[in-house]
Amino acid sequence: MPDPSPPLIAFADRSPTRWSAAFEGAGLRPQQARNASKQLAQQWYAGGVPWQTCVANLPKAAISVVPALVSPPVVLQLAHRATAPDRTSRLLFGTAEGQLIESVIIPSERGEARGRTTLCVSSQVGCGRRCVFCETGKLGLVRQLSAGEIVDQLRQARHLWERERGVAPPITNVVFMGMGEPLDNLDAVLAAIETLCDDFAFGLSAKRITVSTVGVAPKIGAFLRGTRANLAVSLNAPDDARRSALMPVNQRCSLGELKTALVANLAPGREVLFEYILFDQRNDSLADAELLRAWLAGVPARLNLIPANPGPDPALRQPTRERVWAFQKYLLDHGVRALTRHPHGRDVGGACGQLAGAQRDQLARLAHTRADHAGRAVHGGRAEHGS
Ligand code: SF4
Repeated sequence: MPDPSPPLIAFADRSPTRWSAAFEGAGLRPQQARNASKQLAQQWYAGGVPWQTCVANLPKAAISVVPALVSPPVVLQLAHRATAPDRTSRLLFGTAEGQLIESVIIPSERGEARGRTTLCVSSQVGCGRRCVFCETGKLGLVRQLSAGEIVDQLRQARHLWERERGVAPPITNVVFMGMGEPLDNLDAVLAAIETLCDDFAFGLSAKRITVSTVGVAPKIGAFLRGTRANLAVSLNAPDDARRSALMPVNQRCSLGELKTALVANLAPGREVLFEYILFDQRNDSLADAELLRAWLAGVPARLNLIPANPGPDPALRQPTRERVWAFQKYLLDHGVRALTRHPHGRDVGGACGQLAGAQRDQLARLAHTRADHAGRAVHGGRAEHGS
């Protein structure tokens, strides 16, 4: 019989291979414990099978211990879905408390047969970093998401996608570029990545997971030591004065501190993906390109240039194609691996907070209306701007 004293394991906050030890501790033989973990995880994370059924399907010996050890997993409620002509699919999920978070399914631009499919997930409800170009930043931080809530975005999106797309490629990549600053919720993000990579659950390679941060320098070492997932850093200005005006995080973690943290903690063979949103006449001159090149020197890096999406500040506009190309060409001519990612609806290259702000507002308004009709609490007017 299991020891009744330990608290229930929050099921989806731990990766399935870690459940085995708990099941063994409760009296199952090692192989029984492993089989129970595998069966439970495979059924649950495939989606479509209720939790009670997954448990009831376990062998007898496991049924006698599992319900006493694990709490039922967190399940997000799909509040709304909007699909763009390019097949980008935005999912608005409600938490148990009625808060709203967004995930985005982004099909490959190269066509379904050969391409990959990426899911953009949220790591927080709201965000405390208040970048001026970001809709989510206007919310402030409402709360952290648990690892289970992060993982459930993939479980549900994958089930939905595969059911509809038939033989289309499954979701193969995950990016943490939705709502929230992932390094401000690092423990839950690392635990979620462990489950995403767990063979019993999703079996993703860490190389197919990218975590995008505004550059919380003190957390970068812990992130790089904690996972092999890719790190993306949202840069957006070539000097401290302009970066601090766009991204308050820079007032505490300057560009110098950020670079020091990266160089000190990047193991050989690892590199950083930098994201640089181009704002017309703000950070897109050739002099700015030179400042950027100089700052990047010595950091193993790739660079994505992203012409700005419309955001909360109408003064931050998209540059002309000519200015974007001149900026990119300068960097390429000076040895920087720079790509331009155009902000189509499907474009995953949009930096944190830049994922189609206009549609995001529309989505939140729709969900707000639906929630009002259902008589649910959706944090008053704040949901208007939630992503
Ligand atoms: S851009 Fe990212 S870190 Fe900045 S406010 Fe938006 S969600 Fe937060």
